[in-house]
Amino acid sequence: MPEIVIVGAGPGGLAAAKMLAEAGKDVLVLEKNEIPGLKVCAGGLTNLELSYGIPKSILERQFNRVLLNLEGTEVSLKDSGKIMCTVRRTNLGKFQAKQAQKAGAEIRYNAKVTEISKNFVKVGKEKIPFKFLIGADGSASIVREYLGLKSNKWAICMEYEVKGRFKDLEFIFNRKLFGSLFAWIFPYKNSAMIGAGCYSNEISAAEIRTNLDEWCAEKGYKIKGKKLIAAPLNMSYEGFKFKNVFLVGDAAGFIMDLTGKGIGPAIISGEEVARGILSSKYDFTQIEELLKIKAAQEKTRKIIATRPYLTKLCYLLMPALIRIPHINHKILSMVGLQ
Ligand SMILES: Cc1cc2nc3c(=O)[nH]c(=O)nc-3n(C[C@H](O)[C@H](O)[C@H](O)COP(=O)(O)OP(=O)(O)OC[C@H]3O[C@@H](n4cnc5c(N)ncnc54)[C@H](O)[C@@H]3O)c2cc1C
Repeated sequence: MPEIVIVGAGPGGLAAAKMLAEAGKDVLVLEKNEIPGLKVCAGGLTNLELSYGIPKSILERQFNRVLLNLEGTEVSLKDSGKIMCTVRRTNLGKFQAKQAQKAGAEIRYNAKVTEISKNFVKVGKEKIPFKFLIGADGSASIVREYLGLKSNKWAICMEYEVKGRFKDLEFIFNRKLFGSLFAWIFPYKNSAMIGAGCYSNEISAAEIRTNLDEWCAEKGYKIKGKKLIAAPLNMSYEGFKFKNVFLVGDAAGFIMDLTGKGIGPAIISGEEVARGILSSKYDFTQIEELLKIKAAQEKTRKIIATRPYLTKLCYLLMPALIRIPHINHKILSMVGLQ
């Protein structure tokens, strides 16, 4: 019997699996897909994720500046080191899975969990018992559902992969088109992920698609015949520790409210939950830190959603503000780019 069962081989589940297996625990990861990393995602990473051991060799591109278009006001956020990079999620998944397996974790693919009870999870007809259960199964988490937690805050994100060599990594804020979220261009080696996200209570998925398509056409990005991939994101945090059952990453709603950054929070929460299982006295300090940043981002996003004049004023002042070093630093830290 595995001591710890982890549902989902995403960044959160694999980070937890690696740490627990390194500590000698008997860990089983159950993944519904046949390989790790089959996830709709733009693959944008910052220095934060790299500090968790993601090697530069698997990265697509690295950038030492990030361009923001704030309703027409153009701003370039810079840092002395590289502040953002991109990775293909299948490459990240492959890397993390290898690390977890090397540490001794077992990963079972094509293993969709369809039922959960107090003592076991069910894959097909097989009942797999556990002492601890970690729900690392993303926004539509079956473990979260088993815990009876509601999600009252959803975002929808969608993107195209467009061929070509794109120079800059860009965020485009435009409340009319994308509400309080944004569109993005995340360049890879010979393509870019061009997408947009919005909160479902602000703009419908159909509308955001139309807005994204029209915006791409206006900018001359060739999306005709390209497949649009989309996924909902659970932005609602309702706790992560429920006796012997834990939630990490998107399943817990750790994704950041303004930047939509979820890979780092998934890795951090995965490792935190592993520490909590290894030591019952562990106080989850890094999860507290994550929740503070999430709350600050939620505040800023609500201002964007509800205070158009104040937002526009901030956008207009931004080019001057970011020339002040400590404000530049504050903005980079607030959006997790440092
Ligand atoms: C369009 C889009 C763009 C994004 N871009 C970025 C970005 O640039 N940077 C960033 O940081 N974040 C981005 N995100 C968010 C990011 O993808 C997620 O926050 C991150 O993947 C969360 O990791 P996770 O481990 O919690 O869950 P996931 O990565 O969703 O992994 C969950 C795993 O569980 C598996 N699973 C689900 N249900 C079951 C089941 N019943 N049984 C077995 N296995 C199951 C899934 O197959 C999956 O492998 C983006 C999201 C979207 C939708």
